[in-house]
Amino acid sequence: MKDLNKRIAALPEQRRAILARLVAKDAESRNSALKAEEANARPPQHQPREQYDIVIMGGGLAGLSLAIQLRRAVPQASLLIVNSTTYPAPEAAHKVGESSVEIGAHYYDTIIGFKEHLEDRQLRKMGLRFFSPYGDNSDISKRVELGPFENHILPIPSYQIDRGRFENALAVQAARDGAGFVDECKVKDVDLGAEGAPHVVHLERAGEQFQVKARWVIDAAGRAALLRRKLGLTKPSEHNVNSVWLRIKLPIDLEKFSDDRDWRGRMLTGFRQYSTNHLMDRGYWVWLIRLASGSTSVGIVADPRLHPLETYNREDRFIDWLDRNEPQVGDLVRRNRHLIQDFLAIKKLAHTTEQAYSNDRWALVGDAALFTDPLYSLGSDFIGMGNTLVTEMVRQDLSGVDISAHVDFFNWLLLDFLYDSGIRIFQDQYPLMGNAQVFVAKALWDIAWYWATIGPIFFHDRVSDLEFMKSIKQELIHFKVLQRKMQDFFREWDLATKDEVFSGRHVDLTKIPFLYPLVHLEMDAGYDEDTLRRKLRDNVSLLETMGAEMVLRAYGAYPAAPMTDTGMTLQEHFARTAPRADIHEELKRAWVGAKAESALAAGQSF
Ligand SMILES: Cc1cc2nc3c(=O)[nH]c(=O)nc-3n(C[C@H](O)[C@H](O)[C@H](O)COP(=O)(O)OP(=O)(O)OC[C@H]3O[C@@H](n4cnc5c(N)ncnc54)[C@H](O)[C@@H]3O)c2cc1C
Repeated sequence: MKDLNKRIAALPEQRRAILARLVAKDAESRNSALKAEEANARPPQHQPREQYDIVIMGGGLAGLSLAIQLRRAVPQASLLIVNSTTYPAPEAAHKVGESSVEIGAHYYDTIIGFKEHLEDRQLRKMGLRFFSPYGDNSDISKRVELGPFENHILPIPSYQIDRGRFENALAVQAARDGAGFVDECKVKDVDLGAEGAPHVVHLERAGEQFQVKARWVIDAAGRAALLRRKLGLTKPSEHNVNSVWLRIKLPIDLEKFSDDRDWRGRMLTGFRQYSTNHLMDRGYWVWLIRLASGSTSVGIVADPRLHPLETYNREDRFIDWLDRNEPQVGDLVRRNRHLIQDFLAIKKLAHTTEQAYSNDRWALVGDAALFTDPLYSLGSDFIGMGNTLVTEMVRQDLSGVDISAHVDFFNWLLLDFLYDSGIRIFQDQYPLMGNAQVFVAKALWDIAWYWATIGPIFFHDRVSDLEFMKSIKQELIHFKVLQRKMQDFFREWDLATKDEVFSGRHVDLTKIPFLYPLVHLEMDAGYDEDTLRRKLRDNVSLLETMGAEMVLRAYGAYPAAPMTDTGMTLQEHFARTAPRADIHEELKRAWVGAKAESALAAGQSF
């Protein structure tokens, strides 16, 4: 891929533009060629038996991908998937969850083996791209932009996923792999069996009631959350944002929002539209996601304290809201209103659970367990990690191993580490989306945290390795403490600087070498167990050093106390990351304001 990037870079601008058009066209024509075949695919319907090893309740993204993973991990186990709606699902206007990042993409392309589908029938994504506000947001070229630039195709891939198209392919594959698949069938209730007794799942199909028994029941019913509700496990989240979205049968290319030559020239023509594009301002962000079926997904996510849901919860209000806040998108949607394919909303997106896994052989996956926030597209990451933990517990249990140690640790890992560290990224952070300097620094921090912590663990296939994970519990706790402290810092820094205005700068993630390619590529470096453990220890210091440097650049002085509970001083962390003292220098490239430079000049230096 590096070579490819170099070869593309060497082409004259005109040739590069042609190449971009060809890449886009090629992806779209291959997609439409496959459309008819896929749209007609309904998995063969299975005649339910009396008893299974595993019943998965809900055949959406989490349930279907888990079925494929389980069939490969425990091929001897019988498995039934029950889904209330009918397949095939419609393309484009199906569900949200269209943008993937590295962990979710790796889960789909490598772990469950959908690389060919993702490369051929979905869109390769050009990274995450963020536009901070400027003025009335009517000129995109004036907005501070964070992303990869030029021709950069990140070597670890991610995709934009048309959910209907993907779920159709997953359902066909799950049935082909030997899972029993029944759609138009509703789970009405579950009687959980204790101490080894089978669970009884009550089902209804075409007005007929019947039941099946199972050793394992997995709740993959999304927000219907059958077991979480039945067992009273729901924990409301303090993070409160709402979202409304639509799909429009229009390929939105936001590059056409401006003719500014410098702005256009930053990026290979035609490539920007394949990023997950985020248009941000105080209290909200708007997503633009291109889909392989030719549509664009457009959504608003907002903190109701700044943008009440009633201001954008109907189609006319949605367009009016866009006109007021994101006029360039508003204008396009209004002019093409006849092409709108659906219009949907969810209130109060975040939730979690007291418990996700039980010794009594039940588990919650996907949205049935928890959800944090759509920013950074972590939904598929949680699906990939949760499904991998569940696959390991089922595998151990079916081979006669006592899984209580797995259940305890994996509940801690999912809820106390992953959810807690995840929700801090978003909770009370929507106001700072209006502060270009703070948001750019925060986004780099958030990405670095992800690439340096759970990214390498998942890519090295260790997330469900109980002994390994227990051996790094202290590092995980340090990562979590660091996350909390840094998110507090970003919030406070925003309060101190929220009236500052930034414009005309762009920050290229790929030009911050300690972060990219280093931390990005180390995620998938193929380390052995000991090297990975050492690397994670070093990454505690790397993140502490990065955090301290950000505080220095923001306030002109290093933080007084260490930002972890390691017992190491800041100087000791610096010493440990000595080969990476470059962080101090390279963070300059992430600073969008001149003021920070003068504050820095007045303060300490390395
Ligand atoms: C606004 C928004 C934007 C998002 N953006 C992204 C993103 O960009 N990237 C990302 O990775 N994630 C994103 N997510 C998260 C993503 O949508 C979810 O993580 C994902 O859809 C969860 O999949 P799931 O299989 O758990 O649930 P679902 O996809 O909802 O599937 C649940 C299935 O269960 C079935 N079901 C329900 N009740 C029953 C029953 N009683 N009996 C039988 N079947 C039943 C339903 O028919 C459905 O098929 C976003 C979420 C929101 C709210």
